[in-house]
Amino acid sequence: MKTELLTIPCVAGHEEEIAHAAALLREGALVALPTETVYGLGADALNGAAVAGIYEAKGRPSDNPLIIHVPNDLSWLSRYCRDVPELAWRLAERFWPGPLTMILRRDPCVPDRTTGGLDTVGVRCPDHPVTEAIIRAAGHPIAAPSANTSGRPSCTTAAEVLEDVGGKIAAVVDGGPCAVGVESTILDLTVTPPRLLRPGGMPLEDLRAVCGEIDLDPAVLRLMGEGERPRAPGMKYRHYAPHAPVTVVTGDPDRTAAYIAARADGKTGVICFEEYRERFPWSVVVSLGPVSDKGEQARHVFSDLRFFDQTGVQQIFAQCPDPDGLGFAVANRLKKAAGFHVIELEGEGP
Ligand code: AMP
Ligand code: MG
Repeated sequence: MKTELLTIPCVAGHEEEIAHAAALLREGALVALPTETVYGLGADALNGAAVAGIYEAKGRPSDNPLIIHVPNDLSWLSRYCRDVPELAWRLAERFWPGPLTMILRRDPCVPDRTTGGLDTVGVRCPDHPVTEAIIRAAGHPIAAPSANTSGRPSCTTAAEVLEDVGGKIAAVVDGGPCAVGVESTILDLTVTPPRLLRPGGMPLEDLRAVCGEIDLDPAVLRLMGEGERPRAPGMKYRHYAPHAPVTVVTGDPDRTAAYIAARADGKTGVICFEEYRERFPWSVVVSLGPVSDKGEQARHVFSDLRFFDQTGVQQIFAQCPDPDGLGFAVANRLKKAAGFHVIELEGEGP
């Protein structure tokens, strides 16, 4: 299949391409869409056959449900969800459009293929005007997991999407690089207190300011054991991993840099904070961004992980941000890429 590339930087002046992308989705085709988090691989969420195509194109396990994407119009929430709690309305009003996915009871009109057979559904409103316009024009919610091949780091540019699923889908909408860079935060609102299933682009602190207490699902913090079932089925899978094994080193950046420098040779890849670039002269180095700029780190983390697959490195070390704000999501993606192989250094200074 030839994959069409539709370059749509903004809504104004691109009405025809937007209508074309929406028509493809209505016909049941797969269209990759830009969002503020990462690129999504979109299909009509109410069309079981179209949704089945997503699993095939990504090589995604069929028990891993999809998030449905709606425009910034809260009436869509009542169309596809049941028993929506008052807190969910408040969160949607406060944080949508934005990188927050809410798990709610599903309405039966959402097919099993989309929810992986669960009686709940993940819903979010993406903060990208082009994609919002496409969903409105399609007239149905759009199921859209991250557009990467299953197991690989997520895609934050249209070029990365083409690298992974080019030739397997009808079109890719290029709406520029993703502004946030990590996937949405997933909050389960079918339990009390609400439970964080995945840290993401919406910081936990901001959610706690509205919700009060939030429990953390164990899959957020550690590898799941045999037979353990995280509430977000996707959290049990190996994810984001480059070909070479990754070791994440947490702690004071001076100490983690010294630890890595002592072990890094010419066959080593290093993901480090910008300030430490010069510390690994023998190795293949990419910057995560400045120590204090977690927004920049979120925008870099997936392309950094992808980068090493074009090199011959045999091991990868990564410095890791502290877990405040977006640091929680960045650290989670690095640790998942490492299969939770983490070296924790205590104390300050080298
Ligand atoms: P992706 O869109 O590829 O970033 O993955 C979506 C994530 O949301 C996966 O980890 C899914 O398991 C999770 N997810 C989607 N729908 C639900 C649901 N109804 N209940 C729990 N987790 C969900
Ligand atoms: Mg994904």
